[in-house]
Amino acid sequence: MLWETQEVDPADLVLRYGDRVTHVERIPEREAVVEPWPDWVDPDVRAMYEAEGISTLWGHQAEALHHVRAGRHTVISTGTASGKSLAFQAPALTDLAAGRTGSSLRGNRLPTVLYLAPTKALAADQLRRLAGASAFARPATVDGDNSREERAWARDHANYLLTNPDTLHHSILPAHARWTRVLGGLTHVVVDECHHYRGVFGAHVAHVLRRLRRICAYYGADPTFVLSSATVAEPEVFAGRLTGLDVVPVTDDASPHAARTIALWEPPILPGVDPDGPGVVRRSATSEAGELLTDLVIGRVRTLAFVRSRRGAEAVAATAQRRLAEVDPELARRVATYRGGYLPEERRELEQRLRSGDLLGLASTNALELGIDIAGLDAVITVGFPGTRAALQQQFGRAGRSGRDSIGILVARDEPIDTYLVHHPEALLGTAVEASVFDPDNPYVLGPHLAAAAQEIPLTEADFAMFGPRTEEGIAALEAAGWLRKRQAGWFWTKRERASDLADIRSSGGAPVQIVDALTGRLIGTVDGGSADSTVHEGAVYVHQGDVHVVDEYDVEHGVAMVHRDDPEYSTSARSITEITVTETERTEQWGEAAMSFGSVEVVNQVVSYLKRSTSGGGILGEEVLELPARALQTKAVWWTLQPEAVAAAMEHDDVPGSAHAAEHAAIGLLPLLATCDRWDIGGVSTALHADTGTLTVFVYDGYPGGAGFAERGYAVAATWLRVTRDAIVACACPDGCPSCVYSPKCGNGNEPLDKAGAVRLLDAFLIGAPVHP
Ligand SMILES: [Zn+2]
Ligand SMILES: [Zn+2]
Repeated sequence: MLWETQEVDPADLVLRYGDRVTHVERIPEREAVVEPWPDWVDPDVRAMYEAEGISTLWGHQAEALHHVRAGRHTVISTGTASGKSLAFQAPALTDLAAGRTGSSLRGNRLPTVLYLAPTKALAADQLRRLAGASAFARPATVDGDNSREERAWARDHANYLLTNPDTLHHSILPAHARWTRVLGGLTHVVVDECHHYRGVFGAHVAHVLRRLRRICAYYGADPTFVLSSATVAEPEVFAGRLTGLDVVPVTDDASPHAARTIALWEPPILPGVDPDGPGVVRRSATSEAGELLTDLVIGRVRTLAFVRSRRGAEAVAATAQRRLAEVDPELARRVATYRGGYLPEERRELEQRLRSGDLLGLASTNALELGIDIAGLDAVITVGFPGTRAALQQQFGRAGRSGRDSIGILVARDEPIDTYLVHHPEALLGTAVEASVFDPDNPYVLGPHLAAAAQEIPLTEADFAMFGPRTEEGIAALEAAGWLRKRQAGWFWTKRERASDLADIRSSGGAPVQIVDALTGRLIGTVDGGSADSTVHEGAVYVHQGDVHVVDEYDVEHGVAMVHRDDPEYSTSARSITEITVTETERTEQWGEAAMSFGSVEVVNQVVSYLKRSTSGGGILGEEVLELPARALQTKAVWWTLQPEAVAAAMEHDDVPGSAHAAEHAAIGLLPLLATCDRWDIGGVSTALHADTGTLTVFVYDGYPGGAGFAERGYAVAATWLRVTRDAIVACACPDGCPSCVYSPKCGNGNEPLDKAGAVRLLDAFLIGAPVHP
């Protein structure tokens, strides 16, 4: 059947929404910059690519090949679908091809390649792409799913090993003596999609890579590291920190793309319904997206909507179906939800219906990114900024049929970062400002990896430089604890246990709390130990995958919360007291009357009560007292101080604590624009007078023991950070503050006090003496 063709230009349709559309930009088509294949690429390797239709290279591929061939450690940071894999595969496979004749022997070993992916799915995808290289590459995936035979084959025969940092950490490095053939022959180590290694996980992976480098050197190998990353700020700094090596960046994307229109959308302001909440709120982004999807479907525009949660995706599709049913019941049938977990034949049917144009609207969570092959779409609606520009580009990139313009629409959620972006398109479309960050010197991360390294090969003073400035201190602590002992050849591991078990590289600190259904005894999920006191305390309403539960009992000691299914028509929010103490000021920068500092802090947090809030707009129903222990966290923070005279000069009738508190909330909401983190990764404290600084102080700290690099990035780009925070608050048209600017969903103080106008005046006072850049 031939389906009717598109009736409207989606860009025109979007403009009909007037004020809600804050920006429209047409990005012209980009022509490719093409380069020939270099002569040194093995003819068989080149033939493999030519069989896939790749007869020439894009400029950035040629540039990367040139560096990698010369043995320079390289990071390729270009857009999605710009052919980054070729840039590391072609030189690596060329070496393997040369291995057939023995012309590239390292010592007496044949060349090998190690490929690291953050997810098993990505490694599986790479393995498929190596199918054409069977004449010279013997690839094998090594992960937690292998049989004994598979692993033995990989050890004895594979020359292209695909694995992940977890397997390297737990299995390959501790048993390196069995992997000497692979580790001693390495010519290339590929770290694919390396922007995933951020925060505490990034710090762990940085040390896993240092342990790998140390073992390679021990067996006489000196591999070239090739990293691939999404477009981020300063990829060479990030890649350098991750590997501990000097890394050359390749960032000039020379791949072609079709013309695209980008529209930014801000939902309108409505009166708040909660008498104890903000006076105004924005209409929900899912309602807006549902309406927009309706109009696009009526216009026969094939549209995909990305929504963060499964519930949200269902709401968007339901809104569109309901409204379409009023217009034409046949159209309602042509909208669906993609919920993940489909059977292959169901997925193929969905793909087929999208391709043919039978299906006009699909609402999906990010699960779709991996599961389904889509072509022939004209529009993408992204509901809420997905966290990074690369993720947004990837979602928008799902639309675009050959020779036709596509459109990508970002609908803002009620978050300060979304408010900022829809009013500052340059931050989305201009040069990248977000950086992937982590702190390899975090002692809580470094210690366990030093222990693991010592068990692999005894540590000596020659290793101090490899593991960073805190190595000596870290070794001393392990020695004092009896884990390491110094002997003639260095520091040895003294225990029978495997030292690598000390580091759980995916954990973010604190044992998780188990959530158990009291009726059935079934485990329904876990929450992070760090946030359990405020989310699963006794009496808490806890939502798990859309199901509402009430907590009957929270056993702090054993880390178990017993819950039952219930829908009590109220939600709960924990209230806490937080005290912060500066333990060491590492860096300070004076900005006239203001100062920015970075260093170590101790944060003591205690959840003391919780509020019950009506879910039908009835306000606060009551407050219940809780008895929970105080928790101490040693971490890193950035803090801003302002002298009393400057505060007095800036503030007239403003509520000073409320102004600092509002500025803190917005700043926490905006830091993810500059460092790829989540606002839930960081915490804040603000006070009109702090005992350690003697002045008005706003602290923003990493929510992980030892720090995660986010506060440090905030310090490094403090002037930009405070400016975008100020601009986000100003951009929000609400009168007295709302969740799109200064209200925080995780405030332990019930969002009190808050002074929106005062926050802007306070931030202006901070910025008077601030440097222009950054
Ligand atoms: Zn607002
Ligand atoms: Zn707060």
